[in-house]
Amino acid sequence: MPDSSFCVVAMDGGAASGKSSTAKLVAARSHFLHVDTGAHYRALTAAALSKGLGPEEGDALDQFLETVELETAINGHDGLIRLNGRIPSKAEIRAENVNAAVSRFAALPAVRACVKTYQQEQEAVARAAGFRGLVMDGRDIGTVIFPHADLKVFLVADPAERAARRARDGQNDTISDRDHLDSTRDTAPLQAAADAVVIDNSHLSLEEVVERITTLLRERGF
Ligand code: C5P
Repeated sequence: MPDSSFCVVAMDGGAASGKSSTAKLVAARSHFLHVDTGAHYRALTAAALSKGLGPEEGDALDQFLETVELETAINGHDGLIRLNGRIPSKAEIRAENVNAAVSRFAALPAVRACVKTYQQEQEAVARAAGFRGLVMDGRDIGTVIFPHADLKVFLVADPAERAARRARDGQNDTISDRDHLDSTRDTAPLQAAADAVVIDNSHLSLEEVVERITTLLRERGF
């Protein structure tokens, strides 16, 4: 029986599709915990690169992954990853070398295995902290991490609009390269779950998207 007192929202989509901004606002409006799983892959990538380890490193990378301990620090409605006792800064995980390498790390089964259980545990983290739900954004949340989520949203936007968003953020990000790698990898590729609601936000304001999601939640009894 579904637990109607706690809601899990899976929010997937490509790079710069508006997932994190949307998920943040949904979390604030509905008193949900927001977890950005892109930050998990970015944190692992930044930590590996800082040790001189690239995605082709094989055994050395596996050994590094075995030493990784992941915890969550709650800041307002955000569940932030703490990796080996440290919360990596936004500047660190959004650095150009991380943008360029993260999708190659995220394609590795060992990297995905390293974060999978941690991501699934965020539901318990959110419940224990008194949130009414969890909204998790990423690429495989509705397909792999929470296949039984109460609501799955897949956000899409025009490539030109997405590139403009990243440029407005002052970021030099290879979003089309990342989307290509993310969609074509063998393990947990970027794709909409069969039961996801697809929202094209190219010509919608953030408020309008959040309003649609709020309506979808209401229709599901939340
Ligand atoms: O969401 P963001 O663009 O910050 O994600 C960075 C990268 O992390 C993505 O391009 C993708 O390679 C990887 N990622 C993933 N699965 C997720 C979230 C992110 O593979 N659930």
